[in-house]
Amino acid sequence: MVKAVKRTVRPNVLEGHPQLSEHQSAFDNALKQFDRAAHIIKLKPDQVAMIKEPRKITEVKLPIRMDDGSIRVFTGYRVQHNVARGPAKGGVRFHPDVNLDEVKALSFWMTFKCATIGIPMGGAKGGVIVDPRQLSAGELERLSRRYFAEMIDMFGPDRDVPAPDVNTNPQIMAWFMDTYSMHFGGNYLPAVVTGKPLELGGSEGRSSATAQGMVFCVIKAAEHLRMKLNKSTVAIQGFGNAGSFAALLLSQQGCTIQAISDIDGAFVSKKGINPKEAIAYVEKHKSLKGFHRHAAVEKLADPMDLLELPVDILIPAALENQITGDNAPRIRARMIAECANGPCTPEADDILEKKKTFIIPDILCNAGGVGVSYLEWVQNRMGYYWTNEHVQQDLKLMMERAFASVLETSLQFKVPMRTAAFIVAIQRVARAAELRGLYA
Ligand code: NAD
Repeated sequence: MVKAVKRTVRPNVLEGHPQLSEHQSAFDNALKQFDRAAHIIKLKPDQVAMIKEPRKITEVKLPIRMDDGSIRVFTGYRVQHNVARGPAKGGVRFHPDVNLDEVKALSFWMTFKCATIGIPMGGAKGGVIVDPRQLSAGELERLSRRYFAEMIDMFGPDRDVPAPDVNTNPQIMAWFMDTYSMHFGGNYLPAVVTGKPLELGGSEGRSSATAQGMVFCVIKAAEHLRMKLNKSTVAIQGFGNAGSFAALLLSQQGCTIQAISDIDGAFVSKKGINPKEAIAYVEKHKSLKGFHRHAAVEKLADPMDLLELPVDILIPAALENQITGDNAPRIRARMIAECANGPCTPEADDILEKKKTFIIPDILCNAGGVGVSYLEWVQNRMGYYWTNEHVQQDLKLMMERAFASVLETSLQFKVPMRTAAFIVAIQRVARAAELRGLYA
């Protein structure tokens, strides 16, 4: 069905999965995105200096007692990029490829994501270099608690509020929250972290929030492009929290989900994949491995070919740097909705702009996750909890308002949606930094 394309691959020594050879610095890419917007609005050098670089970078060593009695030392990071507009906010990623460059980039995108959707939060991100699939539940709990304990003074409801990201989940957020609460007197202090289980002060709608926010944007983008969602086909890379809910919620809009993938393979069906069946399969088998033997789908020889399928909407929902100068010329989707952070490089952006591909950029498209995290934090601080209906209404308003202001800016400055989102966000962060002034 899909023509195989020759690529150089480098082995991922920790997981044994091939990746694109083009090693891109995610943080350099993020800075290029910033520069494009800053140049257009003629941001002053002082303002650039105040808001471009991360304000605090922490690296910790995390010694953990393994089940066999041995000790392994892991490396963890927390980067607080900017707190001009509110407490630092951003997830914690557990992945073998985590590195400081990536965490800096992810923290940077959080600052401008919170500003794009207008929530009073700054930007941060954390990460631990680990393949959690190789840890027992006990080892994972000890690592999670040690990570939080090592940097406990950085965290706090008014300081820095983590959340889930790749390979972290509500259970890990519960351990973070408990570690913090025990450290400060054995109390119950839920507002220090979001994405918690409902039973521990989590919010209704948080688990589907990232994908739901994307769907609100896709509906508005389809109106703008005069695309009919009930006639649209979709390919989704990544089938975790963001990707699996993306499949479910877009199919509820009438889209046909033609391809899905995860770390263990990519699967296609022209007739459409039933998201509920795929989600049930992953719940049982922990990944999509072997899905083609279970359902009427075909397995792609090269999972990266999913990105080049002739679909209407492409949803990257895995990791950064997936759509590059190398494969962008072969992308055929009319619309790319970035559930993942940083999936398109600046080189890819330039190529896709010429092809008139409509990109809903990450700092807008996947902001529903942090949007509902903010609502969770508000509920924790009030001690009063809203219904799912209430949360969905607030999320819809937040996303539609942000989409409208980014689209308007894009049309006004005649720039792609990514640059427009940065124009909106940079102005908000720069103004807050200017108003606060310098403490000296
Ligand atoms: P997750 O751990 O729940 O899922 C990640 C998925 O990506 C898994 O299915 C994994 O197998 C797959 N994957 C990893 N490497 C892959 C590869 N090379 N090819 C194909 N699939 C691959 O993580 P998540 O929370 O869904 O996060 C996915 C992306 O969305 C990340 O970029 C994250 O930063 C972003 N994001 C997540 C949230 C959130 O609330 N969870 C919010 C905003 C943005």
